[in-house]
Amino acid sequence: MGAHGVERGGDTIVMATREADNGDIDRTIAAALDKLTQVQRILLWDIAKHEKLSPIQIQFLLHLQRYPDALRTVSVLAREFDLTKATVSDALSALEDKGIIARERDEADRRSHIVRLTAKGARLADRVGPWQDALVRHIGRLPRADRERLLGSLMTLIKSLHDDGVISVARMCIACENFVRGRDGEPHRCVLAGHAIAEADLSIGCAHYRSASTG
Ligand code: SF4
Repeated sequence: MGAHGVERGGDTIVMATREADNGDIDRTIAAALDKLTQVQRILLWDIAKHEKLSPIQIQFLLHLQRYPDALRTVSVLAREFDLTKATVSDALSALEDKGIIARERDEADRRSHIVRLTAKGARLADRVGPWQDALVRHIGRLPRADRERLLGSLMTLIKSLHDDGVISVARMCIACENFVRGRDGEPHRCVLAGHAIAEADLSIGCAHYRSASTG
């Protein structure tokens, strides 16, 4: 990468030139994402500490609140969060002991259990739901066009990592077998829902997602 010195207040400040190569930009983006991960970690820890739970238990609660029975088994939780089933079971047992969740045998697969929030768990999930609000507020201050571009880039990045097997589940339109990309100015379509999807309405976290690749 090229660099040049700038005199300011007696100090020489070394500044990156605009000819920074792609590798440097890529690492800077990765460092920025790392910083945002740190923000997410801080916000999640804050709410977890307040509720005397672990961050992953908070994430399980929100998953159980959001998704239907088919996505509320130990196997699904392990896949969605890239954890072992043993780790998921331990975290769920602690939630069960606190009366936050209950497990019921899955009638469709008697070897499996469906995990549900109890009334106490549902109240807790409502309370912790807004844990990302501080970040969302800042995202909302970006111009609309920037947010749309950012969303598109992040989705492309997640799909690429999913395709390479770095994460197990993408759970978003552009990696879904129900997604048909619009061509020549035509809108995208979800064949399951049977309707058009605008670029800004591409979904992350859809309960009906089906992986278009191996994951
Ligand atoms: S099923 Fe859900 S994730 Fe898949 S294309 Fe339709 S809206 Fe998107």
